[in-house]
Amino acid sequence: MIIILKSGIGDAEIDDVCRRVTEMGYAPHIIRGEFKTIVAAVGEERGRPDLRLLEALETVESVIPVQQPFKLASREVRQEPTEVRVHDVVIGGKVVVVMAGPCSVESEAQVLEVAGRVKESGAKILRGGAFKPRTSPYAFQGLKEQGLKYLAEARKRTGLPVVTEVLETESVEMVAEYTDILQIGARNIQNFTLLRRVGEMGKPVLLKRGMATSIQEFLLSAEYILAAGNPDVILCERGIRTFETTTRFTLDLNAVPVLKKLSHLPVFVDPSHGTGHWDLVAPMAKGAVACGADGLIIEVHPKPEEALSDGPQSLKPAKFAQLMRELRPVAEAVGRSL
Ligand code: PEP
Ligand code: MN
Repeated sequence: MIIILKSGIGDAEIDDVCRRVTEMGYAPHIIRGEFKTIVAAVGEERGRPDLRLLEALETVESVIPVQQPFKLASREVRQEPTEVRVHDVVIGGKVVVVMAGPCSVESEAQVLEVAGRVKESGAKILRGGAFKPRTSPYAFQGLKEQGLKYLAEARKRTGLPVVTEVLETESVEMVAEYTDILQIGARNIQNFTLLRRVGEMGKPVLLKRGMATSIQEFLLSAEYILAAGNPDVILCERGIRTFETTTRFTLDLNAVPVLKKLSHLPVFVDPSHGTGHWDLVAPMAKGAVACGADGLIIEVHPKPEEALSDGPQSLKPAKFAQLMRELRPVAEAVGRSL
């Protein structure tokens, strides 16, 4: 249910509504819009009092049900787009934000080189995996904490905030110490314990769609993080599994306008995993920006042929620079900048 408060209501009255919501057994979430403040009351309704009783309060304009199963993530609860701030980078605003870097952090020299090059080309956030979710247990699993240290050093030298994946609940705190954005990978999209845990961390979360995740399931996973008290969720389409095998996954660009219609959360696209081939990254990156993506996450490696993971889909720094130049007019054509 959403409780729409009357205009001009102050903090004390908002607190009073939240207290009543809590007493009725629901969790209140305050959403401050440009014109109105609303309190979203979430929780199981069975056996609890009807929130519509609150319409009797003088401070309440109306109490209306949210139709979608994902409540806090839905446009019904918040019409204005959510902007996620990471230091001076605004995600979900007019500027299309590009995150770039290697699939895996492999050495300090590698990550420092890529960080410098992608920054020069206009990337705003450095990506790099230190804990890698590999299909085979015999494949490179990442440098773990040492990799996080290299990422932190790259951030210190370039000023670029960092996004990196966290695989397990037990390492959330450690990863959060080093990173600016916590990435939840495709394979963990329905690890609900992990989602709750990152929801408690107070750091933005990049939530990647699973390869067999419907839009509704995707938004319900985002809901776990939001319901745990973290409003800063960035959704990321990264390709789904279909019958097609010429590409690694099928990049579902439909998801971009669909998610933007259903949710206020920023939407990113990963054309690297979405295609699996470096020469398909640029066209799909442009397509993603054209259809309304708020940002991109792209794999870049100085020597893709020697990469310890995802070399075939990694761009060399010069190709990444070219893509960034080519993306600018695309962004401008849809009223954005880069
Ligand atoms: C990655 O970003 O390197 C990654 C493993 O992505 P995904 O979870 O989308 O496969
Ligand atoms: Mn990868």
